[in-house]
Amino acid sequence: MQTELSLFADHAYLPDGWHRNVLLQWDAAGTLTAVTPGTDAPPAGTRRAAGPVMPGMPNLHSHAFQRAMAGLTEYRAASGANATDNFWSWRDLMYRFAAKITPEGLASVAQWLYIEMLKAGYTSVCEFHYVHHTPDGSRYTNQAELAQRVVDAASASGIGMTMLPVLYQYSGFGSRAPREDQQRFINTPDSLLDLLGTLRAARPESAALRYGVAPHSLRAVSADSLRALLGGLDATAPVHIHIAEQTAEVDACVETEGARPVQWLLDRFDVDSRWCLVHATHVDANETQALAKSRAVAGLCLTTEANLGDGIFPAYDYLDAQGRFGVGSDSHIGVDWRAELRLLEYGQRLTRRQRNVLASTQATHVADRLFDAALEGGAQATGRAVSGLQVGQRADWLVLDPDHSSIAEHAPHAWLSGVVFCEHGETPIRDVYAGGQKVVDNRRHRDEEAAYARYRVALADLLK
Ligand code: ZN
Repeated sequence: MQTELSLFADHAYLPDGWHRNVLLQWDAAGTLTAVTPGTDAPPAGTRRAAGPVMPGMPNLHSHAFQRAMAGLTEYRAASGANATDNFWSWRDLMYRFAAKITPEGLASVAQWLYIEMLKAGYTSVCEFHYVHHTPDGSRYTNQAELAQRVVDAASASGIGMTMLPVLYQYSGFGSRAPREDQQRFINTPDSLLDLLGTLRAARPESAALRYGVAPHSLRAVSADSLRALLGGLDATAPVHIHIAEQTAEVDACVETEGARPVQWLLDRFDVDSRWCLVHATHVDANETQALAKSRAVAGLCLTTEANLGDGIFPAYDYLDAQGRFGVGSDSHIGVDWRAELRLLEYGQRLTRRQRNVLASTQATHVADRLFDAALEGGAQATGRAVSGLQVGQRADWLVLDPDHSSIAEHAPHAWLSGVVFCEHGETPIRDVYAGGQKVVDNRRHRDEEAAYARYRVALADLLK
């Protein structure tokens, strides 16, 4: 029995770097019980990893249903000589999708998405879930129907989840009434807490599942409703919010509230390590310093932010101020933490015309610094014990293909650079373990074919 819950790795990436001959042991609940480098003689019968072992990455921001839209909005929808597409025109298209999704369709899309995440090396996801009601805004018989489908999809795929039901109350600053096409999202603090209670009773928290909340944005809640929402939660539950993705929302916040969004939030609420500020894209120098000091996590979703034309987060100044961050795939135009980290660095290179901008004097390899920081910040944002190969953390890890051209013949200190920056052929991630279960074996998830077939049916339905 013991040998079934153990794995021997010739090389494993521990919190202080690569080590040789590492024996990993975990319990039946999927928690690491021993991590022993320098194990010269593993117990007889211990399985051996097919390549170097490194921690799985938490994905701190996801809207599962948006996976079905990827690649379908890459054309100019507006007409006229000065037509420009932007976040807001994209959002109109996204709302049309949101209006059509069914419980079965959502389950199929989410399960396929989570399989894609696992194959890409994300072993946890924070789901910022905002489609709650039927298309006319009335409640499902089980008011938590849609959120529960998403939780079940995560559990079926094997990925760990932090479910964050979204409070969407208003359509804009100044408590503006919701739009017709937002009816499926709308709740009050009390009705959302009630929905969360129903969900929690049906699917209790476990090592693989944690609950928090997501006030959608400062556009969609008021100070009072945010206070009421937080008052109904335990004091450690994760709180995620879209904060400053668009300059138009920063301008509207300044106009109606008299402060920029990040400053406004920091001034009025006790923002600390339970908070994740998603898309803290538009922050001034003071906000950058203050956000870093708060110990909250900045949720960066670089592929989505690039795809939507959001802007560039001041990553150099923020990291220099010891700011915490993690990465998310958000709209799922890409599902790959390696691309998120690469783009984080490349945005800085392109604007500064320098290389290795996000390295530091202590961490000279950019990929290693960004990986370590995104793992720690991502784990903090999940509110779950998923911060790498350490006793007490979840048994979540990736096994690299030692023959992949991004790392073959390289010394271990160059492996993360190859994994993050090289874009050659198939993924270097060969196997994936989540909670001690091998869910991806030689680049295939155990349910891949059936889940993909269901995804295609759901997608065809949405596109009718
Ligand atoms: Zn989002």
